[in-house]
Amino acid sequence: MSHEKNRRDLMEFIRRYVGDSGVKIFEILSNSAKELLDSSIVELSKLSEQDVRRALYELHNLGLVTYRKSRNPEDSRYIYHWKVDYARINQVLLQRKKAVLKKLKERLEYEENNTFYVCPVCRVRLTFEEAMENDFRCPRCGEMLMYENNESTRRKLRSLVLKLEEEIKNEERSLIS
Ligand SMILES: [Zn+2]
Repeated sequence: MSHEKNRRDLMEFIRRYVGDSGVKIFEILSNSAKELLDSSIVELSKLSEQDVRRALYELHNLGLVTYRKSRNPEDSRYIYHWKVDYARINQVLLQRKKAVLKKLKERLEYEENNTFYVCPVCRVRLTFEEAMENDFRCPRCGEMLMYENNESTRRKLRSLVLKLEEEIKNEERSLIS
């Protein structure tokens, strides 16, 4: 199950940073038993040569694919043989989870260190200091601000932090062993 979830996370990650063409190319490469040339990837993906090059370049920057160079015997130009860099993918995913964890912890700290006031009409949310500066009135519509109990937000954040910490710990253990 964790494997399946990692794969979904990875695809989501690729979609966000490289786009749909990146997902397509990554899937072609991961379904291929052997290395693939740019030209084969163009053929299989039905994407333009330019799109394929761009996506491969970005996938490579993210550490998800790797290549080997060789010279074309006909015109002695370089040709590139691409494959998925499985050894690095787990590391990349782990780094990404750590970045998410850091953001979640910062958000939790912010929620724990502040008191919040919200406008019941337009849902503007202010910290106590900001609310005080505005005489506890909404800066947008002038309505009286109301104290917000953020305990459920904090609880949700805390459980996300714990879950992610646990996942990271397990994955680090399996990367070492
Ligand atoms: Zn308002």
